[in-house]
Amino acid sequence: KSVVAIVGRPNVGKSTIFNRLVGERISIVEDIPGVTRDRIYAEAEWLTSKFNLIDTGGIEIGDEPLLVQMRQQAEIAIDEADVIIFLLNGREGITGADEEVAKLLFKSNKPVVLGINKIDNPEMRETIYEYYSLGFGEPFPISGSHGLGLGDLLDAVVGHFPQRSEEVYDEETIYFSLIGRPNVGKSSLVNAMLNEERVIVSEIEGTTRDAIDTTLTRDEQDYVIIDTAGMRKRGKVYETTEKYSVLRALKAIERSDVVLVLIDAETGIREQDKKIAGYAHEAGRAIVIVVNKWDTVESNEKAMKEFETKVRAHFQYLDYAPVVFLSAKTKKRLHTLLPAVKLASENHAKRVPTNVLNDVIMDAIAMNPTPTLKGKRLKVLYATQVAVKPPSFVVFVNDPELMHFSYERFLENKIRDAFGFVGTPIKLFARRRQ
Ligand code: GDP
Repeated sequence: KSVVAIVGRPNVGKSTIFNRLVGERISIVEDIPGVTRDRIYAEAEWLTSKFNLIDTGGIEIGDEPLLVQMRQQAEIAIDEADVIIFLLNGREGITGADEEVAKLLFKSNKPVVLGINKIDNPEMRETIYEYYSLGFGEPFPISGSHGLGLGDLLDAVVGHFPQRSEEVYDEETIYFSLIGRPNVGKSSLVNAMLNEERVIVSEIEGTTRDAIDTTLTRDEQDYVIIDTAGMRKRGKVYETTEKYSVLRALKAIERSDVVLVLIDAETGIREQDKKIAGYAHEAGRAIVIVVNKWDTVESNEKAMKEFETKVRAHFQYLDYAPVVFLSAKTKKRLHTLLPAVKLASENHAKRVPTNVLNDVIMDAIAMNPTPTLKGKRLKVLYATQVAVKPPSFVVFVNDPELMHFSYERFLENKIRDAFGFVGTPIKLFARRRQ
C-alpha cells in the first residue's frame, strides 16, 4: 500500500484534513489497557485505492523551535511517504517557514501535492495562484472544515502513486518484522540473524520505496525481514520520539505474518513496550516475544521463569505468544528464534477440519454447560473456521446475546488447546442461526 504524509505549519489544518480523509475508519477494535490508538497513522481510501496516511503534525518532537520541528516533520514525510501533501493556509499566504519546508521537499524529489486550506468560498479561489511559485505545480484549493475540494486533491495524490510491480508475495515465505522501543536491539538482532551460520541472505530492494527487505533462508525455509533499511539508517533526532517509533512499528506490522516484539532484559518492561505490543495484537498478527540482551542478566532457568512471569503479567492479552530469551550481542540462544517464528507462522495460517472442530466444541460444552440469561440457555449448533491469519471461527447459536464473554473465552481456549495455536491470536464470533 502506498503511504501519503501530510506536512505543514501548525494550525494549517493537518488534523482536520487527516480526519476527513480517514473518516470513520479508525475505531478502537479492542479495549486493551494502555493502548490508545494514536491518530497519526491510518488507512484511507479514494476510488479504488487504499493507502495509509500519516499526520506528521501528530508526531510531537520535543520543544524545538517551530522551524526545526517543521524541518523534522518534512524529513519524516520524505523518509516514510510515497506522496506528500503539503498543506498551506490560504488565508495567510506563503510564510518563511513554508518556504523552508518547500525547499526540503523540492530537493527530495518526492511527488508533492499542494493543498491550500481554508478556502471556504469560491471568491477566495482567486488567491491561490500565488502558490504556483512554490514549484509544485497546481495548487488545490480545499476547505477542511467544509470538506470541499478534497476529491480533486486526492485524484492528484493517487495519480502519483508508484506503479509497483506486484509485490512478490509468496505463500510459503514467512514475512516478519521486529518492533520495540529505540535501543532494545532491533538492528543488532537483524545483523546477528544475517550473520548466523547456515543462513543465506539476499536483499530485495524497492518493494516499497526506501524500504529494503532482506530474505534469508534457513533449513530450506524462506523468510523475509521487513524493512531492514529503517533499522539500519540511523541517527536522526526524531527517531527517538515515541510516536515515530509507533509509526514505524505500524508500517512494519502491516506487512508481517509474524511480529517479533522486542524487550530489553537490561532495562525491563516499560509502558511504551506494552503500547507497541498492543498494536501487533490488535492487527491480528502472530507474535513472538523476544527478550533481548539476555547476556546482561544472570541467565539460568530460574531467571528465565521469573522474567517470563513478569512478561505474562504485563502482557496479559498476549498469552498466546511464546517468549524467547536471547542475546543479539553474544548470539546466545539465537538459534531458538527462527523455529519459534516458523511455528507461530504455521499456526497463524492453520486450517482445522470442521468435524474435529465441532467435536472439540461439543466436548467443551459437555464439560462446562452453556450459560443462561433470563432463563434462556445458549444453544450451540455448530462451528466452522471462516478465515486464517489469524484463524477465525464462527459459532452458530440460537441467540448471540446469550454468548457471555467468559464463555466465549472458554471456547476459544478449548480450541486453542486442542489445535495448539501457539503464537497466534484466534478469533471467535457468535452468529444467529435458528
Ligand atoms: P535498536 O534501536 O532497537 O535498533 O537497537 P540497537 O540494535 O541499535 O541496539 C541498541 C544498543 O544495545 C546498542 O548499543 C547495542 O550494542 C546494544 N545491544 C543490542 N543487543 C544487545 C544484547 O543482546 N546485549 C547487550 N549487552 N547489548 C545489546
